[in-house]
Amino acid sequence: MITDERFTAYINSLENGNPPYLDELEAYAKKTQVPIIRKEMQSLMRTLLVMNKPKQILEVGTAIGFSALFMSEFMPRDGHITTIEKYEKRIPIAKENFRKFHKEEQIKLLEGDAAEILKELKEPFDFIFMDAAKGQYIHFLPDVLRLLAPGGLLVSDNVLQDGDIIESKYAVTRRDRTIHKRMREYLYTLKNHEQLETAILTLGDGVALSVKK
Ligand code: SAH
Ligand code: MG
Repeated sequence: MITDERFTAYINSLENGNPPYLDELEAYAKKTQVPIIRKEMQSLMRTLLVMNKPKQILEVGTAIGFSALFMSEFMPRDGHITTIEKYEKRIPIAKENFRKFHKEEQIKLLEGDAAEILKELKEPFDFIFMDAAKGQYIHFLPDVLRLLAPGGLLVSDNVLQDGDIIESKYAVTRRDRTIHKRMREYLYTLKNHEQLETAILTLGDGVALSVKK
C-alpha cells in the first residue's frame, strides 16, 4: 500500500458498484490469488474509458480476463479488445470467462509471450493497458509505442512496485532489484520520451498515464 489506507478505504466506499458478474469474478480472483486491478484503479479506468472512447484496446496481461471484461463494459459498444496472456493455467479460464459472459466477439485473446506477439501486431490501438510482468515493461515499450495511435493513451499499472521504487536499490531484496532498476528506467523513459506526455499517479500500486503526441 503506497497511500494512506484510510483514504483508499473512504474513496472506495463511494463506489457505486460493477455489474454483478464482475463482482463474482473479482471475488474468485481474490480467492485464487490472481492479481487483478484494484478498486481505485477500476474507477480511474472507467473514467479514462468514458473520456477517450477507445475503439481498439490492447491489453498486455489478461490473467483470468477480469480487466478485459471490465473494460468491455465501459468502452464504446462497437469497440474491440485484444489481450495477451502467456500463462497456460490462466488462458483456459480467461477464454471460458469471455465465452460465459458473451464477450467472445468483442475480446480476442492472443496466447503466448507478449515479447513475441507484440512484434507481430500491426493495427493501431487507441488505448493500451500494460499490466504484465513489471520487469518487462521497458522491453515492451518500443512495440507498444509503434502500436499506439497518435493521441492514444498508454496506461501502465503497478509502476511504483508496492513502494519499493523510492527505496535505494540496496534496500530492496535481491530478487526485486532487477525489477527496481528496470521500472525506474521505464518511468524515466516515459517521462523523457519526446513522443509522450506522462503523469505518474500514486493510485493503487502506482499508475502511469502516457499520451502519444
Ligand atoms: N490485467 C489483469 C491482471 C494481469 S496479472 C486484470 O487486472 O484482471 C499479469 C498477467 O500478465 C499474469 O497473468 C501473467 O501471466 C501475464 N504475463 C506476464 N508476463 C507476460 C508476458 N511476457 N507475456 C504475456 N503475458 C504475461
Ligand atoms: Mg496490475
